[in-house]
Amino acid sequence: MSSLGKGLASAALGALLQARGYSVRLRKLDPYLNVDPGTMSPFEHGEVFVTDDGAETDLDLGHYERFTGVHARKTDSISSGRIYSNVLEKERRGSYLGKTIQVIPHVTNEIKDFLRIGEDEVDFMLCEIGGTVGDIEGLPFFEAIRQFIHERPRGQCILMHLTLLPYLAASGELKTKPTQHSVKELQSIGLAPDVLVCRSEHPIPEREREKIALFCNVRKEAVVAAYDLKSIYEAPLAYHREGLDQAVLDAFGISPAPRPNLDKWDDVVDRIRHTDGEVNIAIVGKYVQLEDAYKSIKEALTHGGMANRVKVNVEWVDAEDFDREDVGERLSGFNAILVPGGFGERGTEGKIKAAQFARERGVPYLGICLGMQMAVIEAARNVAGVTKAGSEEFDHEKGEKRFEPVVYHLKEWVQGNHTVSRKADDDKGGTMRLGAYTANLKDGSKVAEVYGSTTIEERHRHRYEVDIKYMDKLEKCGLVFSGMSPDGILPEIVERPDHPWFIGVQYHPELKSKPFAPHPLFRDFVRAAVDASRLV
Ligand code: GLN
Repeated sequence: MSSLGKGLASAALGALLQARGYSVRLRKLDPYLNVDPGTMSPFEHGEVFVTDDGAETDLDLGHYERFTGVHARKTDSISSGRIYSNVLEKERRGSYLGKTIQVIPHVTNEIKDFLRIGEDEVDFMLCEIGGTVGDIEGLPFFEAIRQFIHERPRGQCILMHLTLLPYLAASGELKTKPTQHSVKELQSIGLAPDVLVCRSEHPIPEREREKIALFCNVRKEAVVAAYDLKSIYEAPLAYHREGLDQAVLDAFGISPAPRPNLDKWDDVVDRIRHTDGEVNIAIVGKYVQLEDAYKSIKEALTHGGMANRVKVNVEWVDAEDFDREDVGERLSGFNAILVPGGFGERGTEGKIKAAQFARERGVPYLGICLGMQMAVIEAARNVAGVTKAGSEEFDHEKGEKRFEPVVYHLKEWVQGNHTVSRKADDDKGGTMRLGAYTANLKDGSKVAEVYGSTTIEERHRHRYEVDIKYMDKLEKCGLVFSGMSPDGILPEIVERPDHPWFIGVQYHPELKSKPFAPHPLFRDFVRAAVDASRLV
């Protein structure tokens, strides 16, 4: 079931197989009917993770990248919605030659084709299926997987099943019944798990382990415990101690198994456990009730903390609080302020106030996407005298003209060597500037120093852009445009040389940060917070 840690277990297993010298790719199959998570509310589904090739995917793909360093692709994430839409499109095109379209074989074939993409490129392909065994939406996936295994030589596929062992405090026991039942459910559709990963808050007694092995028909060594951890980055080492990678290689009949090199993960865990000091960072956002909405930002800040060996305490501040509360009172005491991405006008006046507070008080500020746009609007309004400065996004939403569009709706842009065009009334899905784009950084700028380079590639997900029409005016007021698209039309980065640390970026640097390779912007932002904490 959701939140049990399937994504993390998959990601950790990927990392462990890499540690044994294998190449891996991870893939997510989601049973819901949305075509992709691009239009799903962050309140409901958490963050949308964007890949280099511009797919809007499930946040589990973020875990996969953070644990394995393998960049996900469009073809690593699929939903029932996409599968059905592909099938229906083919039907309309006449590709099925007038046949009656059915779940078996048309939908299941579409799923199997997806599983096969790029299968020869890596040693192990790990496919995670979202949802819970028994969900109606999940059935075509399970059937496709049964066929997939049936069609290939023995020993090429194994099944791993994640279950929960609930603890009954009153009787002081762990219950194995739910595990037995979900395995039975799987068996009834022709799937027999080879490895069981059992999530438990308490140590699993030997007796219970034997019981699970016997009744679920798996080997005892293949019943792997998954205990709660202080940090998710302890998962690879913890799973290794519990024998997950060994159980998986045994199930594949790989013997002797190559010895693992876990130095990378030892270092990661050491950096989390042994810190020297802490910093407090405010994230001023809109979706603060659900932390998963800013998952990658939270993780990237943790990585920045690891790079500096400090603990990063994040506090979520609702931007709408500033409608009622004084910004100074709410934000003083933080060593740095981060304003993340977002959509729609709600909360933006509060974000603008947060940017103003950071600028005026010399507090380190990192603005990401909407957070950059807000910093630009703030400077335009309060420093450059464009009093009505705003974003076209807010006028579009309200259907009226209230602002001078310092941030405007982009309808045409260059990607690599072709031009992409969009109309204002295109459907909502995928009509943004999405995926990896190159930016050129100004020589001698703060960001060039942070990156140690003057060309970078970062991932985007937005419809609106800062208008270069305002560049001169803003630069005269101290807001330097230090990163631009290669054609010089789209501002990618703004910074304030007169400020200890003030950077806004139009892209999402958090998506590329890894625990073993913290993103330079987050590393430097946390360092600036450490410097600020020493001043107080
Ligand atoms: N809503 C803004 C835009 O579309 C910012 C998007 C974001 O922060 N990801 O341009």
